[in-house]
Amino acid sequence: MTYGGEEISMDQSASALHGTPVVPGVGYGPVTRPVARPVVPADVTSVPDTAREAELARFENAVAVVADRLRARASRASGAAAEVLQATAVLAEDRAWRGAAATRIRSGTDAVGATVAAIEQFAGLFEKMGGLQAERVTDLLDIRDRVVAELQGVPEPGLEMPEVPSVLLATDLAPADTAGLDPSMVVALATSLGGPTSHTAIIARQLGIPCVVAVAGLDDVPAGTPVLVDGATGRVVIEPDRAEADAEVARDRVERERLASWAGPGATADGSPVEILANVQDGPGARAASRTPAQGVGLFRTELCFLDRDIEPTVDEQADIYAEVFDTFGGRKVVLRTLDAGSDKPLRFANHPEEANPALGVRGIRIAASAPGVLDRQLDAVALAAERTGTRPWVMAPMVATVAEAADFAARVRERGLSPGVMIEVPSAALLADRLLEHLDFLSIGTNDLAQYTMAADRMSPQLAALTDPWQPAVLELVARAARAGAEVGKPVGVCGEAAADPLLACVLAGMRVTSLSCAASAITFVGARLASVSIDQCRSAAEAVLQTADPATARAAALRCLGGSAE
Ligand code: PEP
Ligand code: MG
Repeated sequence: MTYGGEEISMDQSASALHGTPVVPGVGYGPVTRPVARPVVPADVTSVPDTAREAELARFENAVAVVADRLRARASRASGAAAEVLQATAVLAEDRAWRGAAATRIRSGTDAVGATVAAIEQFAGLFEKMGGLQAERVTDLLDIRDRVVAELQGVPEPGLEMPEVPSVLLATDLAPADTAGLDPSMVVALATSLGGPTSHTAIIARQLGIPCVVAVAGLDDVPAGTPVLVDGATGRVVIEPDRAEADAEVARDRVERERLASWAGPGATADGSPVEILANVQDGPGARAASRTPAQGVGLFRTELCFLDRDIEPTVDEQADIYAEVFDTFGGRKVVLRTLDAGSDKPLRFANHPEEANPALGVRGIRIAASAPGVLDRQLDAVALAAERTGTRPWVMAPMVATVAEAADFAARVRERGLSPGVMIEVPSAALLADRLLEHLDFLSIGTNDLAQYTMAADRMSPQLAALTDPWQPAVLELVARAARAGAEVGKPVGVCGEAAADPLLACVLAGMRVTSLSCAASAITFVGARLASVSIDQCRSAAEAVLQTADPATARAAALRCLGGSAE
């Protein structure tokens, strides 16, 4: 994890591949790969009338065995890993796809052929729906392979636990595989597909396994080859010098132990304060975050509380949920985001129109134009929760693109005695940050969407992961512009997108005069500790240097030169 001399010599003596860094840390070991998927016969066997009921029973039995195994693994796992395994088990037993397979079996298709066809039908449907549903296609294909293997009587596909600590390389990993990983045996992982927000990435982050995704050329590296994965820079070095690799791993371990002991509050080494806040999605998430040194909540994603609702929750019901989060953080800062419905997070009660291009459609604050009641009732609920808990939350709107939207939102929020802000996720909002601030108390930069809209690249697309990298200089230019607008009038401008979870980039953002960094609870100590290791002047020089660069790799290298040490 150290850069400079060693890194360059390592890259010169061994070949290095590059991908999108997801979880910082260094892992070194022989390559292990998942067990191959079962071979699916091209021809469908037809089953005689008399044997169809037995074939159907065989199919149902295979599904039950697969679901039971997934549930057994869920019970041995914890946190997000357990949830993913449980969700995959539920999907395996989903009536819709099983029904489609059963219909085929009843009309004479064999169980394997019926499984393949039914999953194909549903994968196509999910893909068309896009967003989060499209991400579940990997889960569906994984279920298909497990059921087919069970029907064929061959070993279940996926990972076999390696005998020595290894680096896991794969084209893509099924969430069920990632969830079962043992970090002491899988010391790093890299995939040739997958985006920074994929399931693989989320679980790797939870398990603390260094991870790089979207690495071109990875599929040609044979099992057993020694490789080093650097999750901070996105490097995958094939056959590195053994001594150098061991030294990098050792330095990384010491560095990680040091970072984990950080206790807050957020500030640079010379005492320049930058609030370190948590991103949460409900009461339990807030309680988990409150056990970290987070100084408050920088992003409460309220829409995630209601993804499964057909009917809009009442004001009282919403107030109870919001109050849980406000209470957990007592008098500390909580920034609540109003419903960011639409695109990859459709809310059934928000009445989205059918759209050809939902990421550019009616999402976030735009829903207020067609259904202002939903926004007003949510703000009533926030005000009620604030009153009940004796707190004064900050409230921000997502996907704001115009000053008029911000002014209208601010008026509604102020009417209720709350503090208004908006997210900077659309380039137009970044460009007009100074004019937005005439109406608002604060801004919060959502780098995930800002990157998507600045680079015209779907944030869910693994092929475009390099474009949605928050280190893209064009994205950082807009971030700097918004931060400058806040500094000029003395109003807070935070960052709450994934960029704030990258410890190196967090220092650069502080150098751009961002006043708070809000990230997943698991990233808090890493970000806080990294910031505490550098001076504000170093951060400023890094920001200046990064803004001169023309691509993400050069931007990272420029930041490292100014900020020194490790990229974590
Ligand atoms: C963002 O876009 O950066 C953000 C924080 O919002 P979300 O990831 O929920 O779209
Ligand atoms: Mg967003």
